[in-house]
Amino acid sequence: MKITFCGAAGTVTGSCHLVEAGGVRVLLDCGLFQGRREEEDYNRDPFPFDPARIDSLLLSHAHLDHVGLVPRLVREGFAGDIVCTPPTAEIAKLMLADSAHLQVEEAAYRARKARRRGEEAKEPLYDMGDVLMASSAFRKLVSYKEEVELKDGLSAVFHDAGHILGSANIELRCEGKTVVYSGDIGNRDQPIVCEPSVPPRADAVLIESTYGDRKHRPAEESEAELKEAIETVIGRGGNLLIPSFALERTQEILYELFLLWQRKELPECRIFLDSPLAIATTRVFARYLDYFDKEGREAFSHAPNPFSFPPLRYTQTTDESRRINAIPEGNVIIAGSGMCTGGRIIHHLRHNLWREEAGVIFVGYQAGGTLGRRIVDGADHVRIFGEDVAVRAQVWTVNGFSSHADQPILIDWLRAAAPKEAFLVHGEEHSLNGLARAAESQLSLKTHIAVRGESVNL
Ligand code: ZN
Repeated sequence: MKITFCGAAGTVTGSCHLVEAGGVRVLLDCGLFQGRREEEDYNRDPFPFDPARIDSLLLSHAHLDHVGLVPRLVREGFAGDIVCTPPTAEIAKLMLADSAHLQVEEAAYRARKARRRGEEAKEPLYDMGDVLMASSAFRKLVSYKEEVELKDGLSAVFHDAGHILGSANIELRCEGKTVVYSGDIGNRDQPIVCEPSVPPRADAVLIESTYGDRKHRPAEESEAELKEAIETVIGRGGNLLIPSFALERTQEILYELFLLWQRKELPECRIFLDSPLAIATTRVFARYLDYFDKEGREAFSHAPNPFSFPPLRYTQTTDESRRINAIPEGNVIIAGSGMCTGGRIIHHLRHNLWREEAGVIFVGYQAGGTLGRRIVDGADHVRIFGEDVAVRAQVWTVNGFSSHADQPILIDWLRAAAPKEAFLVHGEEHSLNGLARAAESQLSLKTHIAVRGESVNL
């Protein structure tokens, strides 16, 4: 068996690994490179394989850094089956449609700028037509723990990774060997999703290392901070903004707000979910209650529930969204994008950031260079739509809501898989090195940090 690391090797984004065994070729994920400009350029590099000769594409979960290049793969000739869980298939199609929309918008903007410089502009990576083509390739939907035959004696089993709805560790069985690809491993005690599965024993693993050098703070601290932010801001007559990722974090925040409301700890307020993508994703969640953990299924077994309780309103259209700004106080507004790089949150920031009584609470990671990061870092003025806006609103940053395993969880996962060989992927240099050191000192396991483009034989 031969594995080639095509992406998320030495970086966090662009997950893609090629497995070749006995004449069969399968891809594990086909993700978008995101973040730094030079990494985004990788999205246009030729694939280091012929897409037409790939038999199956196995997807661990629906985050764009794991599925975001699927439309390009299909356009360039991939004609095999996409294999994943049903929630991953449904959510991935939504994420890809949104991504195509952003790609096309961004390309048009760049084209205008390029024309003024007298230069040629790059085409969008893909458009909605490519996404529709790709959507029809989601043909092989699998349940957790079910063994699916791929081709010529190669089979796969998906195990619940507890990261986001439908996420999986993928076990490959071939030639009497077992290889497990972790995908992204979830955190413990996350709302809605189940605990990460104990992985099967494996000859080799490919394990993510996002927080390989870190231990998370307890989630209770973050829940208390969320409560404090709402009480403070609503109590003094302001609006509280929650920039949030549409997938998983938004549904978890709704869950936390519901618990506060149920315990009668939520002050009188209106909660707006102001993001069409988050609304669509939440609808998919509501159809897959059997993928929720026990508490999650209980919370949803009767009305009201976390997706439908009196203070919560869904604002689908731009008109509905605009009308929120006519109400100057008493609103908790959840909107994307999670790092304030676009989306409706920008309008809400423009309307509220300069108000002393308002507040912003960041519930997810803010990458360098984003508007979210500038606010978190304490900027006193920011540029929004070419206008200078003072930052007078109170800012909270909570770090305990994570859907990623920290070092102790990753080490437990490695201990259970007990591999002879472990390849570390999906991490920045410091996290990869941190996990490598911990595996060596705690498990006496020598690991190998994968390099992009490298192949290994098992
Ligand atoms: Zn993920």
